[in-house]
Amino acid sequence: MSRLRHEKARRKTSGIERERKSSRWDVPKTNTVTNDAERQALIVKFKDGSAVELPWGLLRDACPCAECKELHGPSDPLKLRPMPNKTLTGFEYAGNYAVTLIWADGHRFGIYAWPYLRELAASK
Ligand SMILES: [Zn+2]
Repeated sequence: MSRLRHEKARRKTSGIERERKSSRWDVPKTNTVTNDAERQALIVKFKDGSAVELPWGLLRDACPCAECKELHGPSDPLKLRPMPNKTLTGFEYAGNYAVTLIWADGHRFGIYAWPYLRELAASK
């Protein structure tokens, strides 16, 4: 039996493989993100083939920068300070360990590491 046929047969029997819709041949070498303006969400594709969708609002609330932590920290329990802008306009990869999100108000201090994005997706 050829290697390819064996691969196909194996995938046919595994529902999990089919759901992921990606064989090991098209799994990207690095994690990638796509900003989907229509869904107002950031799509994160991990190099292991899994993907998550993170709504802009969730990401903005979870901005890990010092300024945002302060904004909704103990010093502002009633959240009286203005809510930050929640329109994601862009992103930049920070090396291969994280992605920096750029918001419509110019805020771009949050560096979201890949494990943090996974955590956020799991907490939804
Ligand atoms: Zn921030």
